[in-house]
Amino acid sequence: MTRTTEPSFRESVDLMFNRAAALMDLPPGLEEKIRVCNATYTVRFGVRLRGQMHTFVGYRSVHSEHMEPVKGGIRFATAVNQDEVEALAALMTYKCALVEAPFGGSKGGLCIDPREYEEYEMEQITRRFAYELAKRDLINPSQNVPAPDMGTGEREMAWIADQYARMNTTDINSRACVTGKPLNAGGIAGRVEATGRGVQYALREFFRHPKDVAAAGLEGSLDGKRVIVQGLGNVGYHAAKFLSEEDGSKIIGIIERDGALFDTDGLDVEAVRQWIVKHGGVTGFPDATHVPDGGTVLEEECDILVPAALEGVINLSNADRVKAPLIIEAANGPVTAGADEILRKKGTVIIPDMYANAGGVTVSYFEWVKNLSHIRFGRMQRRQEEARHELIVSELQRLDRYLGDAWSMSPNFKAQYLRGAGELELVRSGLDDTMRIAYQSMAEVWHDRSDVGDLRTAAYIVAIDKVAKSYRAKGL
Ligand code: NAD
Repeated sequence: MTRTTEPSFRESVDLMFNRAAALMDLPPGLEEKIRVCNATYTVRFGVRLRGQMHTFVGYRSVHSEHMEPVKGGIRFATAVNQDEVEALAALMTYKCALVEAPFGGSKGGLCIDPREYEEYEMEQITRRFAYELAKRDLINPSQNVPAPDMGTGEREMAWIADQYARMNTTDINSRACVTGKPLNAGGIAGRVEATGRGVQYALREFFRHPKDVAAAGLEGSLDGKRVIVQGLGNVGYHAAKFLSEEDGSKIIGIIERDGALFDTDGLDVEAVRQWIVKHGGVTGFPDATHVPDGGTVLEEECDILVPAALEGVINLSNADRVKAPLIIEAANGPVTAGADEILRKKGTVIIPDMYANAGGVTVSYFEWVKNLSHIRFGRMQRRQEEARHELIVSELQRLDRYLGDAWSMSPNFKAQYLRGAGELELVRSGLDDTMRIAYQSMAEVWHDRSDVGDLRTAAYIVAIDKVAKSYRAKGL
């Protein structure tokens, strides 16, 4: 039956969960146990600003503790509400299971428009929110580890880490209480761009499977593909930048709060980003057509649509007009359950959020491990690896001399081969591996089961199965 009313975000996630669970053979009661959100804490706290008390409302939801700590970002936005936070926490459970990050699912949010406050005010508000959560163990290296999300970034994570450390002065692992920190405050190389990088790796893996590419009615590689991106924030900017600079894709549309930029010849992502940083929006950008009603650009002809802003943007009101044959959900929940149904019927291939934006939590996992091990990745083995490579290079040099003009080493070979992997290379390699393996596990279910017609259902089946196995291992 075709849906006529839009469910809430949490109901949307539950509907997608139910669709997958109906195809599985879960023991009675376990399905319900996995689906429901374990707990949501609501806090209202006051901060004295500009001579008067301001009250803020925040949430931290714990969806599933089948593994601890639980993990999930903290969002700062005016639209934050309990339903949204619970939906996002549920997605975190399934996302972590799918990419084998050993965490349960959680999420937090604060109802605030960060643009309305000065930096020192934001610090006071963030520290107070962190205090409220930390004193209830809703921030804790072994129980609950937040990360950045919409409206938050390295700066907020550094404040949270410092606030936790002040409250737990003897906790040697205090830095592991939050991820997405700046490098000089216990962060890891490659975390800022990790989610966008993960979107790129997800698309690269998709295009390595010609059958899947054909299912979307596309062919070839990412080179020359026309891409429309919504939201040029952390995730959208990095995804668009890497796809255009490294894979030859053409970013023909960028949709932001104040309208969209459109140019079929391709936009300069870096120039647009700099314009937004300077002017606060895309309006006035000189080298493209400005479309005041930005949302309509979601409906333009393109090869790949990358919603990377917020949830529910592709819904019952516009799904039938969306022409992109391939949608990669860089944001969480950009396609509602009703729209998903319409798009599936049209044959649109959707690479689902729980996989597409898992790069962030994957690199957060690496950061958490780094914090707990108190050592930078690569520090012990890099020079030893280089010394072993040096042995091979010196043998090749001997051969080079012996063979004279008949053979010589390629230029740059020595320098490239000798360089041992630093932290950034290791993070990228771990992320790439994770995205490839997770895609393959999803795609296998998609292809092998005649009752599974889309990647989202396949992703839920893989994730639910892993969560169910954890519960069973606990004897539940
Ligand atoms: P962000 O705050 O850095 O960027 C969001 C961007 O979207 C901003 O540029 C904003 O101006 C734009 N935007 C907001 N409302 C819009 C609208 N109505 N139309 C068009 N553009 C709009 O946030 P982010 O961290 O990039 O997160 C974006 C999405 O990705 C969210 O759904 C988030 O949950 C998800 N996500 C983020 C991470 C992460 O590591 N940051 C990880 C996983 C998933």
